[in-house]
Amino acid sequence: MESSSGDLMTVYAREVSYRVRPDLMNTIEKLGAVGISKCFDCGACTVSCPFSEELGMAPFPRRVIKYVKLGLEDKLVASLEPWLCYYCGDCSDTCPKNAEPAETMMAVRRYLVTKYDFTGLSRLMYLTRLGWLLAIIILGGIAFLIGWLLKGPIVLERTELETFAPVDIVDTAGIAVFIILASILLVNIYRMFRFSVGSLRGIPLTKAFIELIKIVPLHFFTQLRLAKCTFKNYWYIHLMIFYGYGLSFILFVPLLRLTLSNKPFLFVDPLSIAGILSTILLIIGASLMIKGRLEKKTHVWRYSHHTDWMFITLLFLVTITGILTGVFRTLNYPLPTYISFALHIVLVTPFLVLEVPFAKWSHLAYRPFSIYFYRLNQLRGGV
Ligand code: SF4
Ligand code: SF4
Repeated sequence: MESSSGDLMTVYAREVSYRVRPDLMNTIEKLGAVGISKCFDCGACTVSCPFSEELGMAPFPRRVIKYVKLGLEDKLVASLEPWLCYYCGDCSDTCPKNAEPAETMMAVRRYLVTKYDFTGLSRLMYLTRLGWLLAIIILGGIAFLIGWLLKGPIVLERTELETFAPVDIVDTAGIAVFIILASILLVNIYRMFRFSVGSLRGIPLTKAFIELIKIVPLHFFTQLRLAKCTFKNYWYIHLMIFYGYGLSFILFVPLLRLTLSNKPFLFVDPLSIAGILSTILLIIGASLMIKGRLEKKTHVWRYSHHTDWMFITLLFLVTITGILTGVFRTLNYPLPTYISFALHIVLVTPFLVLEVPFAKWSHLAYRPFSIYFYRLNQLRGGV
């Protein structure tokens, strides 16, 4: 009796320790949730979701909606469920009240990104359009200024891109930016771990390591769970953009000394063929996304937050200026090559700095880690 009443007290004490934030729903609505107040807890979304059964979560995605409506901020921040939703929209299509549960899940993911980010920049950019715009302008301006101060001579008789943008400087800057962004993202992933798992206490370490190797690379490189969604094109488009950008990252960061030279670029060697392939993937992926968001025919593109538009617009412009640089360089048009390359740097800087640790690109890391952290909780018997 004593121990049973003790257990009850513990549960009770744990339950009341959660803070209630009355304005939580308001914040989630600002982040893109539409119609959440119409939810009357019928559970149709759980029945239609392709993941709820597999995850053994009877109230998925309903539980997350409940946390938002009740203002249970601590529970929401500790939850991994929003990351296990792949935004296929099946739940919204079946919701009898048009409460758009898929939008709530997406908005909660944005909210979680703002919580994981220790700098506070995510919050500023997700909650205000002006914040985003200012951040883009400031970072683009800084990139332009540094580039202008460190650029080499402008040769106009023939195209000498490496003379204009010395490879040592571009290479060092690229590696420095990469290390800073990766470090911020790692800290954010650690904070996600602290919120959702807490510590490794009670989890067998060998098993935890094996699960890490099994889960994170697989889901990072394949985004396999997206294949479960009814609208398969969504998965294909994600893969196109992921591999298009991944390929151009390899070409222009670790292999920069081979690709940034005074030689023409396109169609001259296997590296330039890989460059063409990466831009084709990016252009097709970005164009399909823009078309989908403008047409609003499928659920996944019916609602667009300002950060969605910023992401896809920057991605498109970065790709176009990259293509123009390659074309002008190959045609031996010096000035257009230098101008398009400078524009490319001015656009790619805010795109990477803002998107990798603070916004859309961070989802690529949070998703596989959420599956892994969920598994850690299972290993400890907490799920
Ligand atoms: S979101 Fe819609 S389907 Fe899901 S519980 Fe609420 S009303 Fe029902
Ligand atoms: S959007 Fe898709 S994956 Fe997410 S909760 Fe709804 S049905 Fe499930």
